Amino acid sequence: MIVVDDIHKHFGGFHAVDGASLTIREGSITGLIGPNGAGKTTLFNVIAGLLKPTSGKVTMAGEDITGLPPHALFGKGLLRTFQIAHEFHSMTVRENLMMVPGDQTGEVLWNAWFRRGQIAREEVELRRKADEVLEFLTISHLADEKAANLSGGQKKLLELGRTMMVDARIVFLDEVGAGVNRTLLMTIADAILRLNKERGYTFVVIEHDMDFIGKLCDPVICMAEGKVLAEGTLDEIKANDQVIEAYLGT
Ligand code: ADP
Repeated sequence: MIVVDDIHKHFGGFHAVDGASLTIREGSITGLIGPNGAGKTTLFNVIAGLLKPTSGKVTMAGEDITGLPPHALFGKGLLRTFQIAHEFHSMTVRENLMMVPGDQTGEVLWNAWFRRGQIAREEVELRRKADEVLEFLTISHLADEKAANLSGGQKKLLELGRTMMVDARIVFLDEVGAGVNRTLLMTIADAILRLNKERGYTFVVIEHDMDFIGKLCDPVICMAEGKVLAEGTLDEIKANDQVIEAYLGT
């Protein structure tokens, strides 16, 4: 689905990504692991259009998407999740979900004036969709809670929920497990698995928690020093000498 071909990203003289190539299979949950500073997040940001690569190419279903801005990729169903922005903290969980779609008629004011009936219908539809997402994620009880009051893990579920408000095909998740308690981490893992199996989402996940990776990811790709070191099942990766030396042994 996505082919990353010899991507380099330099910051001044520093090679954060130094010739990374990998393939993301449609329907997979691909795990990206490696030591801090390996270039995982930078590579994510290059694929998701937040950073332009110094050189190299990214294709999606055969189409060159290198350097396309995030909104263009969004239109193709490629999404990177983000922490809920500070200005959305005072909104409820449901409102945060209803904010997501980019083509709401209400965004254009003069349009809004002439098409009030349609906007009201769209709002009802958005609300229905948001409630369906909350049910899927088993957090219906949080619908009217302010986003600021959510725990770290609940915020991650909300971030995942935001991808469900649009027709996502491939979702990039950065460090889902950081600071999340185990019970909630497994709820998040279940939601990812169900989105993958039931809705056909492809996922690429950066994560340090090996239980989480083991439960979800095949294949697992290990990066170090801006390059891909190895790819395989988690067991294969764990047995790889280079991976042990660069990451697991430390
Ligand atoms: P990882 O996600 O694997 O921990 P990152 O992609 O965040 O690694 O970082 C790779 C390296 O690139 C790090 O040494 C980091 O300090 C550096 N880096 C990342 N972003 C920038 C930037 N905007 N400017 C300069 N250096 C950066």
